[in-house]
Amino acid sequence: MAKDAPKPTTTDAGIPVSSDEYSLTVGADGPILLQDHYLIEQMANFNRERIPERQPHAKGGGAFGHFQVTQDVSQYTKAAVFQPGTRTDMLVRFSTVAGERGSPDTWRDPRGFALKFYTSEGNYDLVGNNTPVFFIRDPMKFQHFIRSQKRRADTNLRDHDMQWDFWSLSPESAHQVAWLMGDRGIPKTWRHMNGYSSHAYMWVNAKGQRFWVKYHFKTDQGIDFLTQAEADRLAGEDGDYHTRDLYDAIKRGDHPSWTLRMQVMPYEDAKTYRFNPFDLTKVWPHADYPLIEVGKMTLDRNPADYHTEIEQAAFEPNNLVPGIGVSPDKMLLGRLFSYSDSHRHRLGVNYKQIPVNQPKVPVHSYSKDGAMRMQNVSDPVYAPNSKGGPKADPERYPYMEKWEASGEFMHAAYTPHKEDDDFVQPGTLVREVMDDAARDRLVSNVVGHLKAGVTQPVLERAFEYWRNIDQAIGDRIAKGVKGA
Ligand code: NDP
Repeated sequence: MAKDAPKPTTTDAGIPVSSDEYSLTVGADGPILLQDHYLIEQMANFNRERIPERQPHAKGGGAFGHFQVTQDVSQYTKAAVFQPGTRTDMLVRFSTVAGERGSPDTWRDPRGFALKFYTSEGNYDLVGNNTPVFFIRDPMKFQHFIRSQKRRADTNLRDHDMQWDFWSLSPESAHQVAWLMGDRGIPKTWRHMNGYSSHAYMWVNAKGQRFWVKYHFKTDQGIDFLTQAEADRLAGEDGDYHTRDLYDAIKRGDHPSWTLRMQVMPYEDAKTYRFNPFDLTKVWPHADYPLIEVGKMTLDRNPADYHTEIEQAAFEPNNLVPGIGVSPDKMLLGRLFSYSDSHRHRLGVNYKQIPVNQPKVPVHSYSKDGAMRMQNVSDPVYAPNSKGGPKADPERYPYMEKWEASGEFMHAAYTPHKEDDDFVQPGTLVREVMDDAARDRLVSNVVGHLKAGVTQPVLERAFEYWRNIDQAIGDRIAKGVKGA
């Protein structure tokens, strides 16, 4: 065979085939034979190519890279991944939330910002967004919120009326809605947006001291956005605009990076802080908890196969390493279940054996069997055992990421902190962070959104919602919609 000749086609079993183009028939015009097992394999495989798409965050793209620690934050966490000088391989996936797998990248929506660190202590995942807050603060409402953003039962259309119905009946959404309707609701590219943990997490240092922390990945490319008109045009011209941008940038060697900065709150502060620090609809003002630099994340390698490396990538906030724990944020606690449950549904119970999800350290778990088990299990298959099986080591790995709680069982809102209010922080955002031009665009974006199908009495409630955020902005929105 000539050196540059194409490789001979084979079946999935590696058996050479006789034709890529013609099925096996009885004579040139005769019926197709069932014994053409290559044709059957091709048809059967094709019918099974799609796996369930993510619900939500179905449309996305990603890349590989690394995280380099540049500062010393060992006083706050003992996690190996954040020790001075450490470099860790990473996978990142960006996404929209409400759209399906083929939906346009430039729809107004928060962007998922999901990170996997392949650390020396196992995989650490941080499943964040490009926004520091979220629409709700209790996982009981999450399913309802997402349904309101997706499609109606009757028409199968997205519907602004149901979006504003939910939002205006859920005042805790005001901060995220104000954020979403502003410039940052449509980033220019994924490279031009920040990523936030949004949730508070716990860090624990080697001495066992505990801190509450929030992660801020600040883009080194600079923040940039698309106007509604630009985004609408791109949605028609190139629905994969953000996916293409990231792929092309990495391909030409223009490797995007983000600087990780942390907000660190001493453990005891949480009880008396003026806002509930675990309420996902609130930020910690920088003046109270300034940003502390940790290191830099750089993306420098495109996936070679989208399906195996990005579509089958499984991020889950319960993948936490020693020195990093959860907080009493109820949304975070709910997500600890829902992500891994979604992966078991989409990818099967052994999804952690798909190469992109495998840790780069040995696994010594007692999980056994299940569909698509790839790695051998060896005896003993139970613990405790006296047969040399793995044994948990509490001396070396004590459970330190903990807090205290007591009380009666109840369905209830968080105990309020003295300045908790759903409208204070969105008010600060529109009055003090946005400039006049950004406020004009915000009003125009909201007016356009409300005019596209929102009916009474939802409309009146939406005006009131905005007046609660800021009286003048609310009045301008009402006027813009009514055309007065
Ligand atoms: P600061 O003035 O210290 O911070 C304001 C923040 O707002 C900066 O992080 C800035 O991000 C970000 N920002 C700038 N323009 C916009 C915009 N158009 N839409 C959304 N965010 C924007 O004030 P505080 O920390 O006291 O926060 C004030 C308000 O800023 C908050 O109520 C919140 O709405 C918003 N904010 C706060 C964040 C926080 O963690 N404290 C994070 C992001 C927003 P950048 O530095 O990238 O320009």
